[in-house]
Amino acid sequence: MDYSHFLSTVSMARKTNLARMTNELEQKMPSLVMLSGGLPNPDCFPIKTASISLIDGTTIEIGEKLMKRALQYCATDGVPELLSWLRDLQLKLHNPPTALCAPKKSQMKICVTSGSQDGLSKVYDMLINPGDNILLDEPNFTGTLAALRPLGCNIIKVPSDAHGIIPKALKEILSRWQSDKVRTLNNKIPKFLYTVPNGGNPSGSSLTAERKKEIYQLAREYNFLIIEDDAYYFLQFEKTKAPSFLSMDVDGRVIRGDSFSKVISPGMRIGFLTGPAFLIDKVILHIQASTLQTSSFTQILVSQLFNKWGQRGFLENANRAAEFYKNQREAMLAAADKWLKGLADWYIPKAGLYLWIKIKGISDTYQMITEKALDKGVSLLPGNDFMIDSSKPSPYVRACFSFASPDQIDQGLQKLAELIREELNEICGRGALTNTFTD
Ligand code: PMP
Repeated sequence: MDYSHFLSTVSMARKTNLARMTNELEQKMPSLVMLSGGLPNPDCFPIKTASISLIDGTTIEIGEKLMKRALQYCATDGVPELLSWLRDLQLKLHNPPTALCAPKKSQMKICVTSGSQDGLSKVYDMLINPGDNILLDEPNFTGTLAALRPLGCNIIKVPSDAHGIIPKALKEILSRWQSDKVRTLNNKIPKFLYTVPNGGNPSGSSLTAERKKEIYQLAREYNFLIIEDDAYYFLQFEKTKAPSFLSMDVDGRVIRGDSFSKVISPGMRIGFLTGPAFLIDKVILHIQASTLQTSSFTQILVSQLFNKWGQRGFLENANRAAEFYKNQREAMLAAADKWLKGLADWYIPKAGLYLWIKIKGISDTYQMITEKALDKGVSLLPGNDFMIDSSKPSPYVRACFSFASPDQIDQGLQKLAELIREELNEICGRGALTNTFTD
């Protein structure tokens, strides 16, 4: 694939940081006399060893030699043993056609990032010039919207439902760029489509295999990239998982973000990108100019944990987390049935952490949620935060079922029901009840 026209002006201007490159030589050629990069001398590091206790009663030991590496700079794309482990994981889970792809430009490459959001925000920076068109389903992750808005792109909303983006609607939008039709939106075919394919945040929607295939075909037809932000991949509640976009990627047009925040730790800030080497190399240039790398200590610790577990142990741990969140979802659905019936609508999320609740008869939940809910002792998020244009009113509320106990979830939704009733009474009192009540 030719990727050159996808790149932003900023990305095209990025150059290799030679000092970073020579730092990496220290790992590859230990006998080298290092007078180039500014590597601090490990003899000055104050920490010697570490013994980390796991919840299963076992420990991970980081001895003196390994600790010196954990405290030192490492290669920009990640420590080699972790990269190789992640590669094997992607091969097992997604078997990407690009793993064996020639030419090298489209070949699958992995880069460790400080959480998936760090990598994904660098992907947007790599692709977007002001005025570019991009495709997004709505509602969507606030972190993505916050990263995209300042870049001055034109975000085109693609209709979606409980099963994610609707391919027919996407096709209709794309047909604006067919040569025999009136060309709109600066003539620029959207550079990419971004979506959260499993357990959308906040929608809870998950794309089906059929829809993914149709969307991938449209990406080929109109030559756009797909950014697959699969932060909830490991938190799928059904036995069979729909294949990822990465697993269908015969061209090298998918950039996938994976997160360990939900199954290992969000505080350690570790995630990774998988995509065509040409594009991942551009992200690496950005990292060379920003964070320099993801924490070596975090990478070594996670790598030791993965080696101890093996792939099987890691997936068992992820499945345990999914089972936990499935039970939390059941608690929230039970509470929603108990308190919100008749007051709101929702659908059952098949993955992730969120219930997306549409309140009946209230056209904008912003004030109710940001002011009155806190006074009542419950914290939720108003729907408009997740919209492309957040200044527009939204009747939705996001309730997260990850953190609170089942009892607290029950109390939280009881409080929400009280709030809705009070708000509806107030609206009635103002004589402003509209027919959205039956919406
Ligand atoms: N993408 C989505 C859809 C998310 O919901 C989140 C976290 N809430 C992220 C990315 C960021 O994950 P990480 O902690 O790996 O940066």
